[in-house]
Amino acid sequence: MSPKERRGVMNALKLRRLRRILKKINARADEMSALTDAELSAKTAEFKERLQSGKTLDHILVEAFAAMREADKRILGLFPYDVQVLGGLALHFGYIIEMKTGEGKTLTATLPLYLNALEEKGAILVTTNDYLAKRDAMEMSPVFSFMDLKVGVGVYEEDEEVDAKRKREIYASDITYTTSTALGFDYLADNLAGDKKGKFLRPFHYVIVDEADAVLLDSAQTPLIISGVPRVQSNLYDVCNQFVLTLHEEEEYHFNREDKAVYLTVKGGHYAENYFNIPNLYDSSYFELNRHINLALRAHHLYKKDVDYVVVDNEVKLLDNRTGRILEGTRLQSGIHQAIETKEGVKKTKDSRSVASVTYQSLFNMFPKLSGMTGTGKIAEDELISTYRVSVIVIPTHKPVIRQDFPDQIYVTLPEKLAATLTYVKKLHAKGQPVLLISGTVDIAEIYSRMLLQEGIVHSVLTAKNVAKEALIIKEAGQKGTVTIATSLAGRGTDIKLGEGVAELGGLAVIGTERMPNSRIDWQLRGRAGRQGDPGLSQFFVSLEDELVQQYGGKRATCYFEENNHHQRSDYGQPLRQRRHQRILKQAQAKSEDRSVLARQSTIKFDESLRVQRQKIYALRDELIYDEKNLSQKVDHIVDEVISQYLASNSGLTERSLRRYILDNFSYQFQEASLPVSIDNQVAVKRYLKSLYYSEMSRKAERLQTEEKKSEFLRLSILHAIDACWLEQVDNLQQLKNFVSLRQAAQRSTMTEYYQESLRSYDRMCQAVKETVLRNVMLSTIESDGNTGYSIYFV
Ligand code: ADP
Repeated sequence: MSPKERRGVMNALKLRRLRRILKKINARADEMSALTDAELSAKTAEFKERLQSGKTLDHILVEAFAAMREADKRILGLFPYDVQVLGGLALHFGYIIEMKTGEGKTLTATLPLYLNALEEKGAILVTTNDYLAKRDAMEMSPVFSFMDLKVGVGVYEEDEEVDAKRKREIYASDITYTTSTALGFDYLADNLAGDKKGKFLRPFHYVIVDEADAVLLDSAQTPLIISGVPRVQSNLYDVCNQFVLTLHEEEEYHFNREDKAVYLTVKGGHYAENYFNIPNLYDSSYFELNRHINLALRAHHLYKKDVDYVVVDNEVKLLDNRTGRILEGTRLQSGIHQAIETKEGVKKTKDSRSVASVTYQSLFNMFPKLSGMTGTGKIAEDELISTYRVSVIVIPTHKPVIRQDFPDQIYVTLPEKLAATLTYVKKLHAKGQPVLLISGTVDIAEIYSRMLLQEGIVHSVLTAKNVAKEALIIKEAGQKGTVTIATSLAGRGTDIKLGEGVAELGGLAVIGTERMPNSRIDWQLRGRAGRQGDPGLSQFFVSLEDELVQQYGGKRATCYFEENNHHQRSDYGQPLRQRRHQRILKQAQAKSEDRSVLARQSTIKFDESLRVQRQKIYALRDELIYDEKNLSQKVDHIVDEVISQYLASNSGLTERSLRRYILDNFSYQFQEASLPVSIDNQVAVKRYLKSLYYSEMSRKAERLQTEEKKSEFLRLSILHAIDACWLEQVDNLQQLKNFVSLRQAAQRSTMTEYYQESLRSYDRMCQAVKETVLRNVMLSTIESDGNTGYSIYFV
């Protein structure tokens, strides 16, 4: 059996199990429809009671689905089809369901959301943009309210002030509609909170991710980052920039254009050691130098002026290399922006550091139950299983798909392709068939738009700029005579209904103007036509000059352009009909897909240690915030440990160094003429240091008056220590990752080294936290303001 056949069999087996449950749900339909409204909505309380008395979700599954299905019918006027119930069941069992566009995923999700919300731990549905989150919440909330459940929306207007209290209400809702970005940033914000008042999330319970492959795979490359205080500016940028200018390619550095990698050769390493007069460039004490050399190398070789960025008004501004537009306000992270600024001799901007960051992989893996919906998931199943441990189940369509997907029309050059596309659009348009032309980039979309204008064909252009407005336009894309040009993201999630008489003309025609970086996107585009058994067609036009082919097609694709005068070919303007061209295209796309998979795997590997450490730190913070008992003892213990550690690592203690230690850690005002202990007697020194601590503590206790305030003080002292050190650590790991990935390119290092070093730095951080706790407790000042309030100032 081929892997594909095996998957088919597996899918059928999974569906069979769900169908058995569906049958039982169908059998309860009449009973549910006989209930009065009041009886139906009272089901919610009844289910909750049963759960509280020890029943599980699976016990009430059949009845709850049947009840919610009836409610959907009564309130929304939509009775979920059998296939939607199957989809809902799969979502409940933690699958990613592949359900074609237009099959009604929004309604499908109401069933598992309802069931899982009954446990009163919250159920979340994330979509890809604010507009969809608000729209789905608005459309579905009547049925949830009818069933006595509360719906919250986790996205806000731009100018809306949203405090923790409001967010707590939203996340306390039974069902929350939000976006993956909003949820990610809320997770980070929640874990930056200093006390209970600032916390607002409940522990994660159940989530359904809409467009699961896009969110869980395609966007998972870029972590969400909260940036903060700028890092100290270093002059290493300048010296390394100078240094790099003296290097010769293939002598001191190696530049691999295809992999976009540039690094020092062994010879280059030695040359650097000479140049900077250091023993070993790869020693950890020259970490920063090495990092800056690599930044300068990359700035000089991987970033081209007027291609990747422009210099305007003494500023480096990035260009979107697919559209050629300036990306206002976007900056490269981790020093590369500064390295480019140095190369161009403009004023360096401040390099901000990341305070907190999380990837979608980490975020969604925190949910005990993760499920998702997408039009195209099966293709990526292996990766979804390995990354998220969720498998994919293909839900059959309600009606058979009768859309015709034509094989690609392949041309040699871009102009040939453009001309052919235009001819085809004109032909369809002449008979009134609606056309949706989808291109990969904004500039190609604009070229098509100009060509259509020249032909006098009225059309709309959507480039995913104004989601809400574009949703309205794309809704109309199925009307007779309509021509719509869109980029692949524009108007997604919006249903295109066919206008009157359009079905007779063959339905909506989707025309792809190039193959996308992965075949899942191609299928999403095709899927805009032929929804719910409608007629329709899809046709892609490609050329060997397309970016995908140029980048990944290899020699066989580009050989055409090496021949002279290929524009005067006798077959100019004719499509290429040989099988091998289809194959070139397929392989180029496969190569592009493999690249992305590899890149994502590497992100996951790097993220792993950050994830583990972040979870430990966040758990520790929560323990402090929610469980304040024994803080006094905890701090006593920490102080004891820090002092012992200090003494153990300073065997040749002098009076002078001990004084310094006391001034730095115990008291700024330490002025005693002579120390009251003999410096050689470690036990006595320790006792003395502890006595300084105890007397400071009792002074502070007096100031703070109540036990409650004292414990608040201790909690803040620890939290501040953790936050300050963790902030350093997040930044450290970020730097380390950049460093190691460069060394990896130079094959000097491996992932193992990264893990080891990140573990070591974590241990160093834990030690630093304890030392900071001691300083916070000892060196902070408390000022009371008025009768009840007081402020604490940490150093
Ligand atoms: P998807 O997200 O799967 O592309 P939508 O949730 O946007 O699909 O739904 C597509 C359309 O199908 C909507 O107009 C919706 O009202 C309609 N629809 C969904 N389920 C049903 C149903 N059971 N009966 C009738 N219409 C339905």
